[in-house]
Amino acid sequence: MSIAFAGGEQVDPFTLKDEDGYFWLKGNLHSHTTNSDGKVEPQRRVDGYVSHDYDYLCLSDHHRITRIDSVSVPDDFTLIQGVELHPDNPFGGQRHHFVCLNLEDDIDAERMAPQHVIDQVRAQGGQAWLAHPHWSSISVARDVLPLEGLAGIEVFNTVCQCMGRGESGIHWDDWMEQEHRIYPMLSNDDLHSDPEDPSSGRFDYYRGWTMARVKDRSAESILEALKSGATYGSTGPEIHDIQIDTSGDAAVATVKCSEAQRIYGVCSTYGAQHYDPSGMFEEATFTLRPGAEWVRFEVVGPDGSKAWSNPFDLT
Ligand SMILES: [Zn+2]
Ligand SMILES: [Zn+2]
Repeated sequence: MSIAFAGGEQVDPFTLKDEDGYFWLKGNLHSHTTNSDGKVEPQRRVDGYVSHDYDYLCLSDHHRITRIDSVSVPDDFTLIQGVELHPDNPFGGQRHHFVCLNLEDDIDAERMAPQHVIDQVRAQGGQAWLAHPHWSSISVARDVLPLEGLAGIEVFNTVCQCMGRGESGIHWDDWMEQEHRIYPMLSNDDLHSDPEDPSSGRFDYYRGWTMARVKDRSAESILEALKSGATYGSTGPEIHDIQIDTSGDAAVATVKCSEAQRIYGVCSTYGAQHYDPSGMFEEATFTLRPGAEWVRFEVVGPDGSKAWSNPFDLT
C-alpha cells in the first residue's frame, strides 16, 4: 500500500529533465510590507528580491491581500498574490498563521474557525500553508490534526530562525507520522525589516528560499510545483539529483548536491547519515534504515546552511 500525498498527485522534481524543458526557479512565498507590519513599501520589497536574483515572490501581508498589480516587476519575475491569515485557534494553542497563496478575494479570517478559512481559500483555488509552527508553539496533535486541506508546512522561516525557532522539521515529521500522509514544504524568509537599514533589522532577508521545478515562469506553473512537491527548500545548498533504489531489503539513496559536510536521510522509522571524514563531498550513496515508508533529505553545507527535499514514498 502506498502512502498518500496531501496535494493529490506528488511529482518528484528530479524526474523532470532539462532536455524536456524544465528548469529551477528560486522564490520566497512569505514577506511583509508597510501594508502590514513590514518596514518597506511593496515596490521596494519586490525590488529587493529582483536585485537578489530571485525569480518569484509573494507579498504575504497580514490579514489583507497586497495586490500584485500595485507593483511592477521585470518580465522574467513572477508575483504570486497571497496573504498571511490568522484564524482563531479553537483547539487551545496560539492563533494560527497560514500563508495563503493564489487568492483573489480578501477573507476576514480573524473571527473564523481555521477549517472555515482553509475551505474558503481552497474554494478560491488557493493554497493554505501551515506557517512556522515551531515559532507559533503549535502542537500538531492538538492544533493541526483536527484540520483538513492544508497544502503543507513551512519547514524553514528566516525571521523565526532569528528568534531561535526557525526550523519546523520535527512538526513536519510528526504530522506525517500521525496522518500517515506525505506533505510538501516551503522554505521562506518572512522578512519584515529593511535590508538597507541594518538598525531596523533582524537579518531576516534573502536567507530562505524554495526552488520550484517548472517549464515556464507563470504563477500557475509555480503554484502547481509547490502543491505537487516538485520543489526543494534551502538556506544555501543546492540539490541536483536524488535517486532511490528500493529493490533490496533497505532502500539505497544517491544524492548529488553542491558541496556538503553531511546529508541526513530522515525516515519515517529511524534516520541515516552520510558523512565523509576526509572532507566535503558533492555526491553520496548510502543505505537507509529498513522498513521506512518515506524518507526526506537534509543536505548540510560547509557553513551549516541547509537544504530540505520533500519526502519520497518508499512503499
Ligand atoms: Zn506568521
Ligand atoms: Zn509572516
